[in-house]
Amino acid sequence: MANTFYTKARTELIAILRKKGITDEQVIAAVNSVPRHEFVQSSLIHRAYEDVALPIGLAQTISQPFTVAIMSQSLRAKPGFKILEIGTGSGYQAAVLKAMGCQVFSIERHLDLMNKARTTLERLGYGIACRCADGTLGWNQYAPFDGIIVTAGGPTVPPSLTRQLKIGARLVIPIGDDKVQNLHVITRLSEEEFQTETIEGFKFVPLIGKEGWVS
Ligand code: SAM
Repeated sequence: MANTFYTKARTELIAILRKKGITDEQVIAAVNSVPRHEFVQSSLIHRAYEDVALPIGLAQTISQPFTVAIMSQSLRAKPGFKILEIGTGSGYQAAVLKAMGCQVFSIERHLDLMNKARTTLERLGYGIACRCADGTLGWNQYAPFDGIIVTAGGPTVPPSLTRQLKIGARLVIPIGDDKVQNLHVITRLSEEEFQTETIEGFKFVPLIGKEGWVS
């Protein structure tokens, strides 16, 4: 498909995101610059700029663009921030954060997905550190982080992740049951104090791990 088709489709997607309440121009510019069609399965490439989640194999999905945008906006990431993402999936959310100027570390529990995402990200020139592991435990070697984003839904907030936040940093994570989750936006105020805001009504694949759902 011609590049002009994707450019037009992306412009229409941006209009939808603005209508749904995305106001952070840094997020808008990043979504506008990342070629989502490079992160979806080739059979679904014509749907790459629809505001929907799409399958990426192994019963996982590339998140809906609105979800990526609202999570990125809630993280309040600034250029130069060190961000940890749990749930690399296709690599799309990681690319959006990188396009926002962040240094990105991303963990995926499925080796096949991690390898595929790493190949895509390298081919497109996004320098992102990827690793196959249980992301509920965070990535201690590079902690503390300026922000952590979890793209799968857990039953409770993993303590390992809150421990790996800098003071003032935010953790954005969907919490709920297997049917519906609320986005928790948790700010670390001090060593012991955290403040939580919630955004209701999301549906993610499960966060499976030691501090998530049992597999
Ligand atoms: N951020 C992804 C993207 O942009 O394509 C969306 C990924 S999908 C909604 C969530 C991902 O989280 C899945 O690929 C799943 O395998 C992964 N996941 C679930 N539990 C995990 C864990 N404990 N550690 C790392 N990845 C996990």
